[in-house]
Amino acid sequence: IEIVGAPIFNERKILKGAVLVFYDITELKKLEIMRKDFVANVSHELKTPITSIKGFAETLLDGAMHDERANERFLKIIYEESNRLQLLIEDLLTLSRLEKDEFRLNVSEITIDEVLSDIMPLMKHQADKKHIHLTVSQEPGLMIKADVERLKQVFINILANAISYTPENGEVTLLVKETDDYIQLSVEDTGIGIPEDAIPRIFERFYRVDKARSRNTGGTGLGLAIVKHIIEVHNGTITVESELNKGTAFHVYFPKH
Ligand code: ADP
Repeated sequence: IEIVGAPIFNERKILKGAVLVFYDITELKKLEIMRKDFVANVSHELKTPITSIKGFAETLLDGAMHDERANERFLKIIYEESNRLQLLIEDLLTLSRLEKDEFRLNVSEITIDEVLSDIMPLMKHQADKKHIHLTVSQEPGLMIKADVERLKQVFINILANAISYTPENGEVTLLVKETDDYIQLSVEDTGIGIPEDAIPRIFERFYRVDKARSRNTGGTGLGLAIVKHIIEVHNGTITVESELNKGTAFHVYFPKH
C-alpha cells in the first residue's frame, strides 16, 4: 500500500488535520516484479549461448582450428548455440506480437484435416527419430474457426513437447473431436510426466521442470506460454493431467461459436 498525505490548515494557518490517501498498489507491484523477472530471465537465456559461441570462436582463433577434430567439434557447438539463439528470439518475437494490441487474429474457417496435413509430416519425422509411435485419431471433416498459422503453432508446440518428454519407443496420441460447444484437441503421451506442484507453473515464461533437460531437447521454455496466449485470444481453454513416469495429457477446447 502506498500512502499520500497532505496537511489541512485553517484560515489562521493552524493545523486542523490531514488527508491521507491509501493506494492499493499490490497489482502494480506484482506487474513490476514480473517485468523485472522477465528481463532478467531473457538476459540470462541470451547470455548462455552467446558466452558459449564467443568462447569456442576464441579457442578456434587461438589455434584450435589447426586441430581437425577440435575444429569440427567446436564449430558444431557454435552452430547449435546459434540455433538456440535463433529459436529463442523467434519465440520472444511471437510472444511480444501476441501481447501487443496490434495483434490481430486472421480467422478463417478450415478443416482440421488441412491443418494436420501441413504439420504432421514434420511431427512424424521427429517422432520417428525417437522410435515414438505417433497416432492421430480424428473425426474426419471437422471444421474449426481459427487463425490457421496460430493454430498450427499450438499443435506443433504441444506435440513437440510430447515427443521431447517421452522416452524412446513411447507413444504419443493426438485426438481431435467435436462436442456440442467445443472442438477438443488432446495430446497424450507415455512420457516422464510433470510433478504435481509444477503443473500450475508450466505455462509461465521460462519455467521448466528440468532446465538442463529442456535445453538439451532444444526447448526455449516459452512454448507453453505461447500456446496459452494463442488459446486465450481464441477464447479457448487448456487443461493438463499428468502422472510422473506415466505420462501427460494436454486438452485444448476451442469454442465453436
Ligand atoms: P520447453 O521449451 O522447456 O519445453 P515449454 O514452455 O514448452 O518449454 O514447457 C515448459 C515445461 O513444461 C517443460 O520444460 C517441461 O518441464 C514441461 N512439459 C511440457 N510438456 C510436457 C510433457 N508432455 N511431458 C512432460 N513435461 C512437459
